[in-house]
Amino acid sequence: MAEVKLIGVWKKFEDVVAVRDINLEVRDGEFVILLGPSGCGKTTTLRMISGLEEPTKGKIYIGEKLVADSEKGIFIPPKDRDIAMVFQSYALYPHMTVYDNIAFPLKLRKIPKQEIDERVREVAEMLGLTELLKRKPRELSGGQRQRVALGRAIVRRPQVFLMDEPLSNLDAKLRVRMRAELKKLQRQLGVTTIYVTHDQVEAMTMGDKIAVMNNGALHQVGTPTEIYNKPANMFVAGFIGSPPMNFLEATVSEDGFVDFGAFRLKLLDDMFELIQEEGYVGKSVIFGIRPEDIYDALFAQVKVPGENMAKVFVDIIENLGGEKIVHLKADDLMFIAKFPPESLVKEGQEIDIVFDMKKIHIFDKT
Ligand code: ADP
Ligand code: MG
Repeated sequence: MAEVKLIGVWKKFEDVVAVRDINLEVRDGEFVILLGPSGCGKTTTLRMISGLEEPTKGKIYIGEKLVADSEKGIFIPPKDRDIAMVFQSYALYPHMTVYDNIAFPLKLRKIPKQEIDERVREVAEMLGLTELLKRKPRELSGGQRQRVALGRAIVRRPQVFLMDEPLSNLDAKLRVRMRAELKKLQRQLGVTTIYVTHDQVEAMTMGDKIAVMNNGALHQVGTPTEIYNKPANMFVAGFIGSPPMNFLEATVSEDGFVDFGAFRLKLLDDMFELIQEEGYVGKSVIFGIRPEDIYDALFAQVKVPGENMAKVFVDIIENLGGEKIVHLKADDLMFIAKFPPESLVKEGQEIDIVFDMKKIHIFDKT
Protein backbone atom coordinates (compact mmCIF):
# COMPACT_ATOMS: atom_id res chain seq x y z
CA MET A 1 0.00 0.00 0.00
CA ALA A 2 1.15 3.52 -0.64
CA GLU A 3 0.38 7.17 -0.86
CA VAL A 4 0.29 8.87 -4.25
CA LYS A 5 1.44 12.43 -4.66
CA LEU A 6 1.30 14.72 -7.70
CA ILE A 7 3.23 17.97 -7.50
CA GLY A 8 2.71 20.67 -10.15
CA VAL A 9 1.94 18.12 -12.86
CA TRP A 10 1.31 19.30 -16.43
CA LYS A 11 0.71 17.47 -19.67
CA LYS A 12 0.75 19.10 -23.06
CA PHE A 13 0.04 17.31 -26.34
CA GLU A 14 1.52 19.75 -28.85
CA ASP A 15 -0.73 22.80 -28.41
CA VAL A 16 -3.37 21.07 -26.24
CA VAL A 17 -2.92 21.49 -22.49
CA ALA A 18 -4.57 18.30 -21.24
CA VAL A 19 -3.54 18.69 -17.57
CA ARG A 20 -2.52 21.95 -15.94
CA ASP A 21 -0.63 22.21 -12.69
CA ILE A 22 -2.28 19.45 -10.71
CA ASN A 23 -1.39 19.04 -7.04
CA LEU A 24 -3.00 16.04 -5.39
CA GLU A 25 -2.24 13.89 -2.38
CA VAL A 26 -3.90 10.52 -2.00
CA ARG A 27 -3.38 8.91 1.38
CA ASP A 28 -2.47 5.32 1.98
CA GLY A 29 -5.59 3.16 1.60
CA GLU A 30 -7.77 6.02 0.42
CA PHE A 31 -10.38 5.76 -2.38
CA VAL A 32 -10.12 8.95 -4.41
CA ILE A 33 -12.33 9.76 -7.38
CA LEU A 34 -11.18 11.95 -10.24
CA LEU A 35 -14.45 13.48 -11.41
CA GLY A 36 -15.11 15.79 -14.33
CA PRO A 37 -16.72 16.09 -17.76
CA SER A 38 -15.41 14.31 -20.82
CA GLY A 39 -12.13 15.74 -22.08
CA CYS A 40 -11.16 17.44 -18.80
CA GLY A 41 -7.94 15.44 -18.42
CA LYS A 42 -8.90 12.58 -16.08
CA THR A 43 -7.52 9.75 -18.20
CA THR A 44 -4.34 11.68 -18.95
CA THR A 45 -3.81 12.24 -15.21
CA LEU A 46 -4.33 8.53 -14.50
CA ARG A 47 -2.01 7.53 -17.34
CA MET A 48 0.71 9.76 -15.92
CA ILE A 49 0.33 8.08 -12.51
CA SER A 50 0.54 4.67 -14.17
CA GLY A 51 3.53 5.57 -16.31
CA LEU A 52 1.76 5.22 -19.66
CA GLU A 53 2.28 8.94 -20.20
CA GLU A 54 5.19 11.15 -19.19
CA PRO A 55 4.40 14.50 -17.51
CA THR A 56 5.52 17.54 -19.46
CA LYS A 57 6.31 19.10 -16.10
CA GLY A 58 6.06 18.10 -12.45
CA LYS A 59 6.73 15.25 -10.06
CA ILE A 60 4.86 12.10 -9.11
CA TYR A 61 5.51 9.94 -6.07
CA ILE A 62 4.11 6.48 -5.40
CA GLY A 63 4.90 5.78 -1.78
CA GLU A 64 8.45 6.96 -1.14
CA LYS A 65 9.42 6.38 -4.74
CA LEU A 66 9.81 9.29 -7.13
CA VAL A 67 8.38 7.76 -10.31
CA ALA A 68 8.39 10.86 -12.50
CA ASP A 69 10.30 14.11 -12.31
CA SER A 70 10.55 16.33 -15.37
CA GLU A 71 13.50 18.31 -13.96
CA LYS A 72 15.64 15.35 -13.00
CA GLY A 73 14.57 13.41 -16.08
CA ILE A 74 13.23 10.54 -13.98
CA PHE A 75 10.58 8.34 -15.57
CA ILE A 76 9.88 4.88 -14.18
CA PRO A 77 7.97 2.59 -16.61
CA PRO A 78 4.58 1.11 -15.62
CA LYS A 79 5.89 -2.37 -14.85
CA ASP A 80 8.17 -0.99 -12.14
CA ARG A 81 5.53 1.14 -10.42
CA ASP A 82 3.67 -1.61 -8.57
CA ILE A 83 0.26 -0.46 -9.77
CA ALA A 84 -2.64 -2.31 -11.39
CA MET A 85 -5.04 -0.75 -13.83
CA VAL A 86 -8.65 -1.53 -14.70
CA PHE A 87 -10.13 0.10 -17.77
CA GLN A 88 -13.56 0.59 -19.25
CA SER A 89 -12.80 -1.91 -22.00
CA TYR A 90 -11.51 -4.76 -19.89
CA ALA A 91 -9.55 -6.66 -22.51
CA LEU A 92 -9.64 -10.26 -21.32
CA TYR A 93 -7.78 -12.91 -23.31
CA PRO A 94 -10.63 -14.60 -25.23
CA HIS A 95 -8.91 -17.97 -25.66
CA MET A 96 -8.03 -18.29 -21.95
CA THR A 97 -10.27 -19.50 -19.14
CA VAL A 98 -11.26 -17.21 -16.27
CA TYR A 99 -8.65 -19.02 -14.17
CA ASP A 100 -5.87 -18.37 -16.67
CA ASN A 101 -6.95 -14.77 -17.22
CA ILE A 102 -6.65 -14.07 -13.51
CA ALA A 103 -3.43 -16.09 -13.17
CA PHE A 104 -1.76 -14.40 -16.14
CA PRO A 105 -0.03 -11.49 -14.36
CA LEU A 106 1.37 -13.91 -11.77
CA LYS A 107 2.69 -16.29 -14.45
CA LEU A 108 4.42 -13.33 -16.10
CA ARG A 109 6.16 -12.72 -12.79
CA LYS A 110 7.27 -16.34 -12.57
CA ILE A 111 5.47 -16.95 -9.29
CA PRO A 112 5.44 -20.64 -8.22
CA LYS A 113 2.45 -22.63 -9.49
CA GLN A 114 1.24 -23.57 -6.02
CA GLU A 115 1.14 -19.93 -4.90
CA ILE A 116 -0.56 -18.86 -8.12
CA ASP A 117 -3.28 -21.42 -7.51
CA GLU A 118 -3.87 -20.23 -3.94
CA ARG A 119 -4.01 -16.59 -4.95
CA VAL A 120 -6.30 -17.13 -7.94
CA ARG A 121 -8.75 -19.15 -5.83
CA GLU A 122 -8.69 -16.57 -3.03
CA VAL A 123 -9.48 -13.74 -5.46
CA ALA A 124 -12.14 -15.81 -7.25
CA GLU A 125 -13.82 -16.46 -3.91
CA MET A 126 -13.74 -12.77 -3.05
CA LEU A 127 -15.36 -11.84 -6.36
CA GLY A 128 -17.87 -14.69 -6.55
CA LEU A 129 -16.10 -16.24 -9.55
CA THR A 130 -15.28 -19.65 -8.09
CA GLU A 131 -17.96 -21.44 -10.11
CA LEU A 132 -16.84 -19.76 -13.33
CA LEU A 133 -13.10 -20.45 -13.28
CA LYS A 134 -13.27 -22.92 -16.17
CA ARG A 135 -15.30 -20.70 -18.46
CA LYS A 136 -14.08 -18.58 -21.34
CA PRO A 137 -14.85 -14.83 -21.43
CA ARG A 138 -17.51 -15.27 -24.16
CA GLU A 139 -19.47 -17.49 -21.76
CA LEU A 140 -19.74 -14.69 -19.19
CA SER A 141 -22.09 -11.75 -18.71
CA GLY A 142 -20.76 -8.18 -18.85
CA GLY A 143 -20.68 -7.93 -15.09
CA GLN A 144 -18.86 -11.23 -14.70
CA ARG A 145 -16.28 -10.17 -17.27
CA GLN A 146 -15.71 -6.94 -15.42
CA ARG A 147 -15.20 -8.95 -12.24
CA VAL A 148 -12.56 -11.08 -13.97
CA ALA A 149 -10.77 -7.89 -15.02
CA LEU A 150 -10.89 -6.74 -11.39
CA GLY A 151 -9.61 -10.13 -10.28
CA ARG A 152 -6.67 -9.84 -12.62
CA ALA A 153 -5.80 -6.48 -11.01
CA ILE A 154 -6.34 -7.63 -7.42
CA VAL A 155 -4.39 -10.87 -7.72
CA ARG A 156 -1.13 -8.99 -8.10
CA ARG A 157 -1.58 -7.27 -4.73
CA PRO A 158 -0.30 -3.97 -6.07
CA GLN A 159 0.34 -0.89 -3.97
CA VAL A 160 -2.17 1.16 -5.94
CA PHE A 161 -5.23 0.48 -8.09
CA LEU A 162 -5.92 2.83 -10.99
CA MET A 163 -9.36 2.51 -12.52
CA ASP A 164 -10.63 4.38 -15.56
CA GLU A 165 -14.44 4.35 -15.84
CA PRO A 166 -14.49 0.60 -15.16
CA LEU A 167 -18.28 0.40 -14.86
CA SER A 168 -19.36 2.54 -17.79
CA ASN A 169 -19.91 -0.40 -20.17
CA LEU A 170 -22.35 -2.12 -17.81
CA ASP A 171 -26.11 -1.62 -17.86
CA ALA A 172 -27.63 0.69 -15.25
CA LYS A 173 -28.81 -1.97 -12.83
CA LEU A 174 -25.54 -3.86 -12.83
CA ARG A 175 -23.60 -0.63 -12.46
CA VAL A 176 -25.43 0.13 -9.21
CA ARG A 177 -24.57 -3.34 -7.87
CA MET A 178 -20.95 -3.25 -8.98
CA ARG A 179 -20.59 0.25 -7.52
CA ALA A 180 -21.44 -1.06 -4.06
CA GLU A 181 -19.39 -4.24 -4.49
CA LEU A 182 -16.33 -2.37 -5.66
CA LYS A 183 -16.56 0.00 -2.72
CA LYS A 184 -16.83 -2.91 -0.30
CA LEU A 185 -13.94 -4.71 -1.93
CA GLN A 186 -11.72 -1.64 -1.75
CA ARG A 187 -12.45 -1.28 1.97
CA GLN A 188 -11.72 -4.93 2.51
CA LEU A 189 -8.40 -4.80 0.65
CA GLY A 190 -7.45 -1.35 1.94
CA VAL A 191 -5.49 -0.62 -1.23
CA THR A 192 -5.03 3.00 -2.30
CA THR A 193 -7.35 3.50 -5.27
CA ILE A 194 -7.67 6.29 -7.81
CA TYR A 195 -10.86 5.94 -9.78
CA VAL A 196 -11.80 8.04 -12.79
CA THR A 197 -15.42 8.78 -13.68
CA HIS A 198 -17.62 11.48 -15.21
CA ASP A 199 -20.57 10.15 -13.21
CA GLN A 200 -21.25 12.28 -10.15
CA VAL A 201 -23.37 9.57 -8.53
CA GLU A 202 -20.48 7.10 -8.69
CA ALA A 203 -18.22 9.77 -7.24
CA MET A 204 -20.59 10.66 -4.40
CA THR A 205 -21.33 7.06 -3.44
CA MET A 206 -17.88 5.49 -3.78
CA GLY A 207 -15.25 8.05 -2.94
CA ASP A 208 -13.64 8.79 0.41
CA LYS A 209 -12.62 11.92 -1.42
CA ILE A 210 -13.55 13.49 -4.73
CA ALA A 211 -11.14 15.54 -6.85
CA VAL A 212 -13.20 17.64 -9.26
CA MET A 213 -11.52 18.54 -12.55
CA ASN A 214 -12.44 20.81 -15.42
CA ASN A 215 -10.40 21.96 -18.39
CA GLY A 216 -7.28 20.18 -17.19
CA ALA A 217 -7.32 21.82 -13.77
CA LEU A 218 -8.25 20.58 -10.33
CA HIS A 219 -11.05 22.72 -8.89
CA GLN A 220 -11.65 21.16 -5.50
CA VAL A 221 -10.66 18.14 -3.44
CA GLY A 222 -12.87 17.09 -0.55
CA THR A 223 -15.16 14.47 0.93
CA PRO A 224 -18.45 13.97 -0.93
CA THR A 225 -20.23 15.93 1.82
CA GLU A 226 -17.81 18.85 1.57
CA ILE A 227 -18.09 18.93 -2.20
CA TYR A 228 -21.88 18.89 -2.02
CA ASN A 229 -22.30 21.37 0.84
CA LYS A 230 -19.40 23.71 0.25
CA PRO A 231 -18.60 23.76 -3.46
CA ALA A 232 -15.54 25.94 -4.09
CA ASN A 233 -16.96 27.57 -7.21
CA MET A 234 -19.81 27.54 -9.71
CA PHE A 235 -18.33 24.74 -11.76
CA VAL A 236 -18.19 22.34 -8.82
CA ALA A 237 -21.59 23.52 -7.58
CA GLY A 238 -23.19 22.89 -10.96
CA PHE A 239 -21.50 19.56 -11.63
CA ILE A 240 -22.62 17.81 -8.44
CA GLY A 241 -26.32 17.27 -7.78
CA SER A 242 -29.28 16.34 -9.94
CA PRO A 243 -31.06 18.31 -11.18
CA PRO A 244 -28.17 20.76 -10.88
CA MET A 245 -28.06 23.76 -8.58
CA ASN A 246 -30.08 26.80 -9.69
CA PHE A 247 -28.00 29.87 -10.47
CA LEU A 248 -29.85 33.19 -10.35
CA GLU A 249 -28.53 36.70 -10.86
CA ALA A 250 -29.18 38.94 -7.87
CA THR A 251 -27.93 41.95 -5.97
CA VAL A 252 -27.00 42.01 -2.30
CA SER A 253 -28.48 45.07 -0.55
CA GLU A 254 -27.01 46.96 2.37
CA ASP A 255 -29.81 45.85 4.69
CA GLY A 256 -28.93 42.18 4.13
CA PHE A 257 -31.33 41.07 1.42
CA VAL A 258 -30.70 39.31 -1.88
CA ASP A 259 -32.77 41.14 -4.45
CA PHE A 260 -33.96 39.27 -7.54
CA GLY A 261 -36.29 41.98 -8.83
CA ALA A 262 -39.32 39.69 -8.71
CA PHE A 263 -38.79 39.09 -4.96
CA ARG A 264 -36.19 39.44 -2.25
CA LEU A 265 -34.85 37.09 0.42
CA LYS A 266 -33.29 37.95 3.77
CA LEU A 267 -29.82 36.57 4.36
CA LEU A 268 -29.12 34.87 7.67
CA ASP A 269 -26.85 36.98 9.88
CA ASP A 270 -23.70 34.86 9.65
CA MET A 271 -24.10 34.50 5.89
CA PHE A 272 -24.54 38.27 5.53
CA GLU A 273 -21.36 38.84 7.55
CA LEU A 274 -19.40 36.56 5.25
CA ILE A 275 -20.84 38.27 2.21
CA GLN A 276 -19.88 41.68 3.59
CA GLU A 277 -16.35 40.39 4.15
CA GLU A 278 -16.23 39.17 0.55
CA GLY A 279 -17.20 42.67 -0.57
CA TYR A 280 -20.39 41.57 -2.36
CA VAL A 281 -22.71 44.22 -0.89
CA GLY A 282 -24.22 46.46 -3.55
CA LYS A 283 -22.89 44.18 -6.27
CA SER A 284 -24.45 41.87 -8.74
CA VAL A 285 -23.75 38.26 -7.74
CA ILE A 286 -24.83 34.72 -8.60
CA PHE A 287 -27.17 33.21 -6.05
CA GLY A 288 -27.11 29.43 -5.94
CA ILE A 289 -29.66 27.08 -4.41
CA ARG A 290 -30.21 23.37 -4.96
CA PRO A 291 -33.66 22.20 -6.14
CA GLU A 292 -33.95 20.09 -2.96
CA ASP A 293 -33.57 23.21 -0.78
CA ILE A 294 -36.70 24.91 -2.13
CA TYR A 295 -40.00 23.90 -0.51
CA ASP A 296 -43.68 24.25 -1.18
CA ALA A 297 -44.71 26.71 1.57
CA LEU A 298 -47.57 24.38 2.58
CA PHE A 299 -45.00 21.86 3.79
CA ALA A 300 -42.27 24.19 5.09
CA GLN A 301 -41.45 24.43 8.79
CA VAL A 302 -40.06 27.94 8.97
CA LYS A 303 -41.80 30.50 6.79
CA VAL A 304 -41.53 34.24 7.15
CA PRO A 305 -43.19 36.31 4.41
CA GLY A 306 -40.76 38.83 2.98
CA GLU A 307 -37.76 36.93 4.35
CA ASN A 308 -37.56 33.39 2.94
CA MET A 309 -40.72 33.18 0.82
CA ALA A 310 -41.66 34.03 -2.74
CA LYS A 311 -44.72 33.89 -4.92
CA VAL A 312 -44.00 31.96 -8.11
CA PHE A 313 -45.72 30.49 -11.12
CA VAL A 314 -45.61 26.73 -11.72
CA ASP A 315 -44.55 26.26 -15.33
CA ILE A 316 -43.85 22.55 -15.91
CA ILE A 317 -44.00 19.51 -13.63
CA GLU A 318 -41.99 16.37 -14.32
CA ASN A 319 -43.27 13.51 -12.21
CA LEU A 320 -40.50 10.96 -11.65
CA GLY A 321 -42.61 8.84 -9.32
CA GLY A 322 -40.38 9.21 -6.29
CA GLU A 323 -40.19 12.98 -6.67
CA LYS A 324 -41.53 15.83 -8.74
CA ILE A 325 -39.23 18.17 -10.62
CA VAL A 326 -41.08 21.48 -10.66
CA HIS A 327 -40.07 24.28 -13.03
CA LEU A 328 -40.89 27.65 -11.51
CA LYS A 329 -41.06 31.17 -12.89
CA ALA A 330 -41.14 34.62 -11.33
CA ASP A 331 -41.00 37.38 -13.96
CA ASP A 332 -37.85 36.56 -15.96
CA LEU A 333 -36.41 34.21 -13.33
CA MET A 334 -36.64 30.51 -14.02
CA PHE A 335 -35.56 27.82 -11.60
CA ILE A 336 -36.24 24.29 -10.50
CA ALA A 337 -37.49 22.78 -7.25
CA LYS A 338 -37.68 19.16 -6.17
CA PHE A 339 -40.97 18.40 -4.42
CA PRO A 340 -42.10 15.18 -2.75
CA PRO A 341 -44.38 12.90 -4.81
CA GLU A 342 -47.44 13.77 -2.68
CA SER A 343 -47.15 17.44 -3.67
CA LEU A 344 -50.45 18.72 -5.08
CA VAL A 345 -49.13 21.64 -7.11
CA LYS A 346 -50.44 21.95 -10.65
CA GLU A 347 -49.02 23.44 -13.80
CA GLY A 348 -50.22 27.02 -14.25
CA GLN A 349 -50.80 27.58 -10.54
CA GLU A 350 -49.39 30.41 -8.48
CA ILE A 351 -47.83 29.10 -5.27
CA ASP A 352 -45.76 30.24 -2.30
CA ILE A 353 -42.34 28.68 -1.98
CA VAL A 354 -39.80 28.78 0.82
CA PHE A 355 -36.02 28.88 0.41
CA ASP A 356 -33.86 27.14 2.99
CA MET A 357 -31.62 30.13 3.63
CA LYS A 358 -29.06 27.97 5.45
CA LYS A 359 -28.38 26.18 2.18
CA ILE A 360 -27.79 29.08 -0.18
CA HIS A 361 -24.55 29.91 -1.98
CA ILE A 362 -23.28 33.22 -3.26
CA PHE A 363 -20.76 33.22 -6.10
CA ASP A 364 -18.74 35.92 -7.76
CA LYS A 365 -20.30 36.88 -11.07
CA THR A 366 -17.03 36.64 -12.97
P1 ADP B 1 -10.99 12.67 -20.01
O1 ADP B 1 -10.43 11.34 -19.63
O2 ADP B 1 -11.29 13.53 -18.84
O3 ADP B 1 -12.18 12.55 -20.93
P2 ADP B 1 -8.51 12.99 -21.48
O4 ADP B 1 -7.45 12.96 -20.44
O5 ADP B 1 -8.70 11.76 -22.27
O6 ADP B 1 -9.87 13.48 -20.83
O7 ADP B 1 -8.19 14.15 -22.50
C1 ADP B 1 -7.87 15.48 -22.09
C2 ADP B 1 -7.53 16.32 -23.31
O8 ADP B 1 -6.32 15.89 -23.87
C3 ADP B 1 -8.56 16.25 -24.43
O9 ADP B 1 -8.65 17.50 -25.02
C4 ADP B 1 -7.95 15.22 -25.36
O10 ADP B 1 -8.40 15.44 -26.67
C5 ADP B 1 -6.47 15.51 -25.22
N1 ADP B 1 -5.66 14.31 -25.43
C6 ADP B 1 -5.65 13.17 -24.69
N2 ADP B 1 -4.75 12.29 -25.16
C7 ADP B 1 -4.16 12.87 -26.23
C8 ADP B 1 -3.13 12.46 -27.16
N3 ADP B 1 -2.53 11.29 -27.05
N4 ADP B 1 -2.79 13.34 -28.13
C9 ADP B 1 -3.39 14.55 -28.23
N5 ADP B 1 -4.34 14.99 -27.40
C10 ADP B 1 -4.73 14.17 -26.41
MG1 MG C 1 -11.18 9.40 -20.07
